[in-house]
Amino acid sequence: MQEKIIDDKILEKISLENVFKIFNDNVFPMLNDEEKAYCNELQTFCLDLHPKIDKSKDVYILFPELGKHGYMQRINKWRDFTPYGMKKEILLGTHLSLLDPQLELARLASGILCGNPTFHYYTHGGTGDTIQKVQDELMSGQKIGCIGITEPERGSDAVNMTTVATKTDDGVLYNGEKVYTTNGPKADYFCAYGVYNKEDPRSTMVQAMIKREFGVKTERLKINSVPRVHIAHTFFQNVRIPKDYILADDGLGYTRLFEGLVPERLGIMGSGIGICWSGLIYGIIYTNLRKQFGKPVINYQGVGYGLADLLTKATAATSLALQSATIYDDKILFADKPSKEAEKWVAGISSQGKYYTAKLTHDICYEVQQHMGGVSVTDNTPVDELMDVSKIEEVIGGARNIQLLLIQSQIQRYMRLL
Ligand SMILES: Cc1cc2nc3c(=O)[nH]c(=O)nc-3n(C[C@H](O)[C@H](O)[C@H](O)COP(=O)(O)OP(=O)(O)OC[C@H]3O[C@@H](n4cnc5c(N)ncnc54)[C@H](O)[C@@H]3O)c2cc1C
Repeated sequence: MQEKIIDDKILEKISLENVFKIFNDNVFPMLNDEEKAYCNELQTFCLDLHPKIDKSKDVYILFPELGKHGYMQRINKWRDFTPYGMKKEILLGTHLSLLDPQLELARLASGILCGNPTFHYYTHGGTGDTIQKVQDELMSGQKIGCIGITEPERGSDAVNMTTVATKTDDGVLYNGEKVYTTNGPKADYFCAYGVYNKEDPRSTMVQAMIKREFGVKTERLKINSVPRVHIAHTFFQNVRIPKDYILADDGLGYTRLFEGLVPERLGIMGSGIGICWSGLIYGIIYTNLRKQFGKPVINYQGVGYGLADLLTKATAATSLALQSATIYDDKILFADKPSKEAEKWVAGISSQGKYYTAKLTHDICYEVQQHMGGVSVTDNTPVDELMDVSKIEEVIGGARNIQLLLIQSQIQRYMRLL
């Protein structure tokens, strides 16, 4: 803290421990015993790590701490870390956002966006040890991963990518550029997409795991709102990728890209839920203790009703995230035969939920700042950092309109039912 102006009695209550008390009161009734025990483990981990976090340092030094506990991701089973599944991943993302929202952003990019394709590779019949080694390095937090989909000229229109893949005797050659590659400047591995034929991206897309040492170059972008996360402009110039690093070839890259988007968007909901609760709970604690005109400011309707409105929305978003994750787990991830009906529903709900939750992170942080007053824009509370990270939530994983576009196309299909 550069300069303290907040009252000591209030400051001592603004603690992660207290955040968890209020979070648990609101969320634990929605969880079963196994899920509560898992959250308790996560909270012990977060309370232990919290005092060791130096906010003047990049988040990456914390990755091995996450890896030791199997917290780089929890959708898939890695080593003996249990429990796992989409609901556990949502709860992981939520807790890590409560702990350190910038760490959570970087963790999601490495553990889920880059890590998930390594699991999909084996579930789709991939063989050999190469990708297993990559997976182990990413999951242990020893190495850093990122995903390269977005290009300078292809943002929302991601499918029509211009990074060109060319077959060689022993693999593939990439030429092209990516942008906004979260973790890119620090990354050891780039899960990146290219196409053999720009005119026919769907049936020629490749998904490959690229080691930095294959020749990837990166330049860091200046993004003020997440200073502890490095985000890159990434260059592939005749980058040679050996065969065993190709995750999906000849158009299968396109299938894998879309297969990945659903769990990724559900996962982003987890990060968002954490930001919502974190901002809101700090606001609740502060406005209960801050007095003006002789009364706690929460007693004034302008403040209290506003927070009541935000609490309602945070609860609604949380219950949506948990319910969609439950359906994903029960009917898709752990089902003997994944339900087509559930797959269709979850694809739609992942867009709806990502759209709603990402926007809510921003609404909650902004409104909480107005309810708290001046202190909330200083570094005396964590709210301003949450506000900054909330700006990113709506852009990553597909911007607002792209989620709405997907939801709209679902609405149009309803005429077929009539
Ligand atoms: C901090 C940050 C981190 C990111 N991390 C990654 C990452 O790790 N890897 C990665 O590959 N990408 C990443 N992204 C990229 C992100 O997914 C894109 O920014 C996003 O897909 C939108 O692309 P764009 O920014 O080029 O906007 P554009 O596609 O240029 O869109 C501009 C505006 O037009 C709207 N728009 C575009 N098309 C339509 C349409 N058909 N209908 C209605 N509206 C439309 C958009 O919603 C937006 O409002 C990141 C972005 C940011 C800012």
